[in-house]
Amino acid sequence: MNTDTATGPVADTSADAAAGTPPTAAAHKRVAVVGGGIVGTMTAWQLAQRGHTVTVLDQWNTPNDRGASAGESRIFRTLYKEGPEYVAFIQRAGQKWKELEAAQDTQVLDWCGGLTIGRPDHPDVAAVLACAHELGLDHRVLNATAMREEFPAYGVDDDEIGVLDPNAGVFRPELAVLAARDEAIRLGATYRPYTEVLHVRPFPDRVMVHTAEGSDAFDSVVLATGPWAGALSGLGDGVIRPKQLVGSWFPVKDLSLHTPDRMPISVRRHPEGAFSAFPSLDGAGVKILNHHLEWPTIDQVDDLARFVAPDFVRSTEAAVARLMPHLDPTAVRVSTWTDGYTPDGAPIVGVGPVDDRIVLAVGMSGQGFKFSPMVGSVVADLVTTGSSSDALDIMDPARFTSGASS
Ligand SMILES: Cc1cc2nc3c(=O)[nH]c(=O)nc-3n(C[C@H](O)[C@H](O)[C@H](O)COP(=O)(O)OP(=O)(O)OC[C@H]3O[C@@H](n4cnc5c(N)ncnc54)[C@H](O)[C@@H]3O)c2cc1C
Repeated sequence: MNTDTATGPVADTSADAAAGTPPTAAAHKRVAVVGGGIVGTMTAWQLAQRGHTVTVLDQWNTPNDRGASAGESRIFRTLYKEGPEYVAFIQRAGQKWKELEAAQDTQVLDWCGGLTIGRPDHPDVAAVLACAHELGLDHRVLNATAMREEFPAYGVDDDEIGVLDPNAGVFRPELAVLAARDEAIRLGATYRPYTEVLHVRPFPDRVMVHTAEGSDAFDSVVLATGPWAGALSGLGDGVIRPKQLVGSWFPVKDLSLHTPDRMPISVRRHPEGAFSAFPSLDGAGVKILNHHLEWPTIDQVDDLARFVAPDFVRSTEAAVARLMPHLDPTAVRVSTWTDGYTPDGAPIVGVGPVDDRIVLAVGMSGQGFKFSPMVGSVVADLVTTGSSSDALDIMDPARFTSGASS
């Protein structure tokens, strides 16, 4: 690490720092955040809250629909099939979402609850139940009769159950990105849209960020470049694989059954259809995100085709016809986005392979929205003090960086 940034008093990352107490002059840093999706804007907010001078650069405007942080809705859930080791991180993220909403006087997350629906022996249903039991988390198990009565939007077979997570909800992702961006700006961050970062070069006393407009010196750089992370991160080939995700909207026949107060978000696991379902936010349709077919890996994010293979749409329509009895099973709108996936499906958050002052927050692997405020907080700790007690081992870049070139 560069001597200017390695020595001297370190800033307090505890409650005082979170409340906005500026770091000491020696610990104050100029930080560039490359990427203004949800991870970059949350990181900018957390860095600005710790008193650093923050510049966010994005090749597009923020939010944009080119990457991973757009598409009308996202899920927050606490009963986590991906593993109980995430749960405390997610719970703390939930508190930070509320803090952001209060600071910006807005609502971006509707705590409508969430269901995992399927046969009790399906691995994802079993994992959610195991997570609830192991950690003693609030939940309710509904049999098929209770499901039909309480949540009629969902068609269930007699041998299926629903596991209700009361600490789940639905985001408005574009509004969430705007809230994080605006809170960062309110705390002093600068925002530079339509500015592609071409290179990041470390020198003993600074890290240079090069764009078509020129070069600027920073003390630290955070790469929050989502599915584009292969380019600047120094991670080896194939560590970040961009995938194409597909969402479709289906018209509601009875809106009253599909509003967030009647229809929790769901993760559906059925032999004839695996998908996530989102309550109607536009008053006309329900969004279904297909998990039934393997999402295609794409070579170049900038070449993401807006075209979606017909099989994707047909299989989603078939699943809706079978499992969502009060929707018209015709996809009237289909959209596609990308996210960057790692080989083990866990994000990469920590110091990168190129230089200690270049921190990575990439490879969110389809999970990153809900816990983005905590990713931002860990990164802000790392920039401020070089370590974070909130960092999760499963997100440690070291698992991929041995042998990576700089
Ligand atoms: C369809 C879909 C559904 C999902 N559902 C959920 C969900 O329900 N719950 C959940 O928690 N997560 C979900 N996820 C995952 C979550 O949305 C993503 O993990 C998260 O949005 C990733 O955000 P990001 O900031 O890392 O990436 P992005 O939003 O892609 O942001 C990266 C930014 O970096 C910019 N950039 C890249 N390279 C450069 C450069 N060289 N110079 C300047 N700027 C650059 C890009 O323009 C972009 O704006 C979903 C993802 C998708 C795609």
